[in-house]
Amino acid sequence: MSTAYPDVVDLASGQIVEPLSPAVRAAFDKALDSDRTSAYAPAYGDPDLRTAVADHYAVRTGTPVDPEHITVTAGARHGLLVALSTVAHGGEVLVPRPHWSHYPAVVRRAGARPVPVDGGAGTGWRVGPAELEAARTERTRALLLNSPVNPTGAVYDESRVRALREWAGAHGICLITDDIYWAYGDAVDRGVRASAHEIVVGGASKVYALAGLRVGWVWGAPELSAALRDAVEYTTGPVCGTSQLAAAAALRETHAVAARVGGLAARREAAVRIMTGIPLLEPVAPAGGIYLCLDATEALSRQPHGARDDVALCRVLAERAGVRLRAGSTFGMPGHLRLCVAEEADTLAEAARRLSGFLTTFN
Ligand code: PMP
Repeated sequence: MSTAYPDVVDLASGQIVEPLSPAVRAAFDKALDSDRTSAYAPAYGDPDLRTAVADHYAVRTGTPVDPEHITVTAGARHGLLVALSTVAHGGEVLVPRPHWSHYPAVVRRAGARPVPVDGGAGTGWRVGPAELEAARTERTRALLLNSPVNPTGAVYDESRVRALREWAGAHGICLITDDIYWAYGDAVDRGVRASAHEIVVGGASKVYALAGLRVGWVWGAPELSAALRDAVEYTTGPVCGTSQLAAAAALRETHAVAARVGGLAARREAAVRIMTGIPLLEPVAPAGGIYLCLDATEALSRQPHGARDDVALCRVLAERAGVRLRAGSTFGMPGHLRLCVAEEADTLAEAARRLSGFLTTFN
C-alpha cells in the first residue's frame, strides 16, 4: 500500500542497463547469420571469447595468459559454483561478511559449508589475516574474496590482497576472487592471477553491462582445468554461442569500459552527496562498486511504523515513501539499507526527496 506515491523508485536491483553498442550489436548479427547459431557452442567456451578474456587478464596483469586456462560459464554465479565445487566440496569456505546475498547459498550448493568472517566498520568492512586465522579449521578449503565488495563498496587494494594471498598460500587454502566489479574503483588490486591455489571468477554482467547474456568465466590453473570443465559439462554444458560472441566484442571495447567506469564513479559520488543529509540515515562511503549502503541505526531507533529491523524498514519505505531499497541483513549487514547507484541523478534525487519527506514526518 503506497499512501503517498502511485509509483515506486526502485533502487533495489544491481544492474547496469545500457543500449547495446554498435560493435556488440554487429557481433550478434554476425553470429545470427552463421549457420552454426542453433548448434552447441564449443565446449568450455568459444575460442573468441576465451581469447578476449585471456587478453584482458594479460593487459591487466602484464603477464601472458593462455586462453586454454579460461572456462566459460553461465554467468559469474555459475563460475562461482564451478570453482567452489571443484576446490571446496566437503570442506569449509571462509566468506568475508558483509557479502553478496547469494554467497552462502552458492557455497552450500557447491557441497561446502560457508563460514562467515566479519569485517567491521573499523576496518572499512574488510577482513585481514587475523580474522581469517581465527575462523580457519583443518576443513577450510577456500576463501571467497569479492572486491569491490557488494554491498559496501569496500575495496581490497594491492597490499591487502597480498596479505590475504600469503596467508591463504601458507595454509593451502584456495583464494577464489570474485572479480565481477573489477573496474569500479581506483584502488582495486589489478594483480589477480590463477595458480594451483588461486582461481579468478569474472563475467560480462557488471563491467560490460550485459547481465542478460548470462556469460561468465573461470580463470584457473592447468591442473584445475579438467575438473573446472567437468563442472561446466555436467551442469549447463556450453553457454549460448551468440551471447559469447557478443560478450567477446564487449570485452574488446575498452573505450566503452573506460566511459562506463567514469560514469559510474560520478554516479557513486553523486549518490553519496544526494543521500547525505537525509534525516536518520547515514551513508557509508564506498571506495568502489555500484552500490551505496545507508546506516539506518537512527531511523530504526524511532521504529517508523513499527519497523524494528532493516527488513521491516525496507517494507515500510517501499509502501509509505515509495522507495525500494535492499535490506542490509540480506548481506550480513543488519541495520543498513543498500541502494544501487547506477541510476540517473534525477532518480536518486527523487528517492532522497521521498526518504527525507517520510523520515521527517512519520508518526
Ligand atoms: N558476484 C557478485 C559479487 C554479484 O554482486 C553478482 C550479481 N549481483 C554476481 C556475482 C552475479 O553475476 P552474474 O550476473 O554474472 O551471474
